[in-house]
Amino acid sequence: MPTFGGCQYTLDREATIAAYRMAASGGADECDCAGCRNFRLAREIAYPPTFLALLDELGIDPLKDGEVYHNARMSPGQHQYGGWFHFVGAVQEVENSSPVVLCDGFSAWMCRASAPRLSSLKGLLVVELNFLAEAVPWLLSEPEMT
Ligand SMILES: [Zn+2]
Repeated sequence: MPTFGGCQYTLDREATIAAYRMAASGGADECDCAGCRNFRLAREIAYPPTFLALLDELGIDPLKDGEVYHNARMSPGQHQYGGWFHFVGAVQEVENSSPVVLCDGFSAWMCRASAPRLSSLKGLLVVELNFLAEAVPWLLSEPEMT
């Protein structure tokens, strides 16, 4: 059984792919705040290849996050964001769970689902995959959020 950061889980990749195909868009695409609009421009840079590989392994469409939120400006042009995705499966066991650092300034962890999910995942047993990105650039021409 696969394990990620001390979390043992099951995965139904085909069901996850099917659910993401049915979803029209993700959280960041449905919000018009400056934080989300900036993330839409920056996410190609924000998600490291290791995270994109994990999303692919799980059957998750990287463009359809459950939600993304702006935390803080760390320094000029550098912002901390958090967010999450869900996939069809179940958390089996959690032991010494801790975030997995996928690259400098980017970590991810799994847990039992509690945050709002995409409507196409409603009614399914899902696992939550959270991420924290600490060095997302500010690409909007408007003033940076603080
Ligand atoms: Zn927003």
